[in-house]
Order: sequence, then structure tokens, then C-alpha cells
Amino acid sequence: MKPIIHPRLTNDVFGDPGLLVQFLYEKRVLLFDLGDISTIPNGMLLKITDVFVSHTHIDHFIGFDHLLRIVFGRGKTLRLYGPDNFIANVEGKLAGFTWNLVDKYNESINLEVVEVHEDHLRRARFRAIDKFKRSDENREPFVNGLLLEEPSFSVHTAILEHRVPCLGFALKEMFHVNVRKDRLEASKFSSGPWLNELKQFIFEGKPDDFIVRIPVNGGKESKEMALGPLKEDLIFISPGQKIAYVTDTVYNEENKTRIVDLISEADIFFCESPFLAEEEERGAERRHLTSRQAGLLAGEAGVKQLRTFHFSPKHKGRESQLRKEAQDAFCEVRKAKEISSR
Ligand SMILES: [Zn+2]
Ligand SMILES: [Zn+2]
Repeated sequence: MKPIIHPRLTNDVFGDPGLLVQFLYEKRVLLFDLGDISTIPNGMLLKITDVFVSHTHIDHFIGFDHLLRIVFGRGKTLRLYGPDNFIANVEGKLAGFTWNLVDKYNESINLEVVEVHEDHLRRARFRAIDKFKRSDENREPFVNGLLLEEPSFSVHTAILEHRVPCLGFALKEMFHVNVRKDRLEASKFSSGPWLNELKQFIFEGKPDDFIVRIPVNGGKESKEMALGPLKEDLIFISPGQKIAYVTDTVYNEENKTRIVDLISEADIFFCESPFLAEEEERGAERRHLTSRQAGLLAGEAGVKQLRTFHFSPKHKGRESQLRKEAQDAFCEVRKAKEISSR
């Protein structure tokens, strides 16, 4: 199965935390955390539609200005999600600049900001054409942690404790579209970019009578067919991927329950681990996880793969120890679960 969601950390494990997620068949990118984003090419930044900010400590939010600078004037809408006080944080950033000329640009950028509370979401809009004055504020229900739902994926969040509220996130691809190679070979069609288009039409939820153009005779001619029969003949649907991202939080019972719920059975779990296993006390005091705690959470939640990041700069040169401690704890819990399920 070829994954369509491609996540990668925006910096090395000692740099500002962040996760960039590209969708294979869409010119679209999601960004989790907005720290230093100078390593991301501008072309990629322009594809970002939604930014999920765990909290506004400087290493998670200093990239706001950089992103705004790049997307400004491109006529797009950028959605930003964050914890309690996030609307005021965005407003404060915008208030730091002079916008006297922006009304000369036509709708150069709209920011839609969503603030997550335990039992509701608050929304506000900042439009360049209004000199980024806060507008259209409203309050919405917040149900089962669901933050964003689209035909092909959803994003859930959980409010975690970091002495301030900090959001963890889980991105779930709704389904995965696979081409039946045997059927394709048996058909008169050849493989090629049209198959990616076909997958995209399915993700977009196009109706069965939607007409698909299929190249034949080495692309010299094309044939038209309805999506419904093509789907039936060539495609099978399997469960989609799940990617989870948790950073800057403390290991306690309440948080453990929330994290395990959120990241349950993720294909890849990106988890912070600033401290060594022996630094539990330091972790508790600073409200961060140790390597071992990251591994325990991954094991408990039954994730398939654990990737740790956000290492403390104090531990430069000890990357392999931090990784090993996390993977050891992860394996330990997995083995214990296997034994108890026999
Ligand atoms: Zn941090
Ligand atoms: Zn923090």
C-alpha cells in the first residue's frame, strides 16, 4: 500500500519542533506547530492550508511572522488552530506590524483562527483588507475532540497539561484507495498519471456518473468512462493511515488517558522526549516527557511506529541513548501486552 500522507519533522531533533504533512495527490500541506520554519521552501509554505499549534511557547510559534510574510498577497485563507488564548496571541502578533497600505491589496490574506476549549471552540477572523481587525467571532460546540473533518481526512485534538493547556493532534486518513493491479493488467488500460487522478476523484467524492478520461494507444487517444464502473472494476478501499503528534506535556494519569485515547493505534506517533529516562523528576517539574515515558505511551496506545523529537540541547551527542530508551520502553509494553493476550 503506497501511503498518500507523508509526514516529516520540520527540523532536526534539537531544532524547533514541528511536523509537515504532505498529501500525495493534492497540492496541499498541513503544518503541526509553527516554530522555526526557515528550512521549509517557500513553494511548500504556500501549499499550507491549516496550521495546528500545540501552544504558543516561542519555539512553537515564532514562525508565525515568517509564514505570514510568505502567504501575504496570495489571496488565500489560512486556518490556524490553537489552545486557550490563541485568538489573542494571533491578534497580538498582527498588532506588532503597521498595516496602513493593506486595503490597497484585494483580499490579500484571510486568517481564520480556532481556539480550543474543553467544551467549545471559539472562532475569529482576521482579514488583511480590514487591516487585520478581529471579526466574525463565534462559539461552536466541540464534540469528541474533532477539530477538522474533510472527505478524505480528519484531525482530532486533546487538551494536555504543560502548566498551560497544550494540544496534541491526530490526523486520520478516512480511507485508502488502492488499484487492483491484476484487474488493471487484465484490462486494456495502461497505468499512468490518470490513475492518480482517478484516486483524487474518489477522495473528492465525485458521483458515480462523473466522466473520467482514460488515455489509450500510448496517450494518442482517450476513452471516456463513468467513475462508478471504473471504481467497481479497478479499485479497492482499505483503512487509511493515522499520524499522531504530541509535544510539551507532562506524564500524569489524566494526560496519559487523554494521550492514549488520541493516538490509539496510530501508524506513526511523533512524540517529544526532551529528557533521559533517569530525568523523570526534571520532566515532571518542567512539564515535559522523558524518553521512557514516550515509549510507554506508544506501547500503551498500540501504535505501529514511534518517532521521538524535541530533544533537550543539553543532550547533544546523546541522541542514540534518547532514542534507544524510548524504543526499549515501547518494546517492553508491546511484549507485556502480547504475553497477557495469549
Ligand atoms: Zn517546546
Ligand atoms: Zn512548551
